Amino acid sequence: VRIGNLSRRLTLFTDHGAIDVEQASDGRFDADPQAVYGRWDEFTEWAATAKNGAVPFEAAELGPPAPRPTQVFAVGVNYREHAAEGGVGIPSAPMLFTKWVSSVTGPVGDIELPSESVDWEVELVAVIGRRARRVPVERAWDHIAGLTAGQDISERAVQMGIKPFSQLSLAKSFPGFSPTGPWLVTPDEFTDPDDLEVACSVNGETMQRAHTSDLVFSIPALVAELSAVLTLEPGDVLWTGTPGGVGLGRKPPQYLRPGDELVTTIQGIGEMRHRFVSA
Ligand code: ZN
Repeated sequence: VRIGNLSRRLTLFTDHGAIDVEQASDGRFDADPQAVYGRWDEFTEWAATAKNGAVPFEAAELGPPAPRPTQVFAVGVNYREHAAEGGVGIPSAPMLFTKWVSSVTGPVGDIELPSESVDWEVELVAVIGRRARRVPVERAWDHIAGLTAGQDISERAVQMGIKPFSQLSLAKSFPGFSPTGPWLVTPDEFTDPDDLEVACSVNGETMQRAHTSDLVFSIPALVAELSAVLTLEPGDVLWTGTPGGVGLGRKPPQYLRPGDELVTTIQGIGEMRHRFVSA
């Protein structure tokens, strides 16, 4: 099942187009895309039967699949290759931070550049579909509603502005710095949800390309580690980290400029397309 946010309404996407969930379910499910995660099992059961009435849609109307999560989790240095690029080694536990919710945006459109040191980070993003508390790795996928594409856009001067510390959460929370989409794909749709190709390009030049099988902490491992400490709520969002190829790691560093187009692609999910504009 593919679900998402079309003109701020919960929408089911099929090969033939978009189905408005509130209308197709005669009001059984609310139009608010965030509300569905609280009734995920009931919803997916209904969605499996709702195949008719799809209509064409405009990609420009797509929004983030989880627009108002209670909690957003993000993880640093979580690809073996990216850890090598940063020269920091592989962490023994996930290095966690957040992206504040005011930075959430959709899979298409313009993003303002607050400075000349804004970087790209393609990431696979998971949304929680069932409350998770002390969940073992073997049962963790049962708590995932689905997967979507994300860009953990990062302002590197803020990130490194208080050395030797990292200001990760603030640096990654400017308006528009947390785009996700184009929709959420349920885990059963993938041949192997633990091995997806993630990639991004700037003005057509590929900057990052990797497989999520290279993750230090897989999605199940992250759910187990997080839920050992706290409770993951339905609709919470989990960013899984970025592979090598970010602008910061280039010599000299390369950052986004006004007019640049960033295309983010994840195998089995789809693509996001953003243009950067000066503030
Ligand atoms: Zn990141």
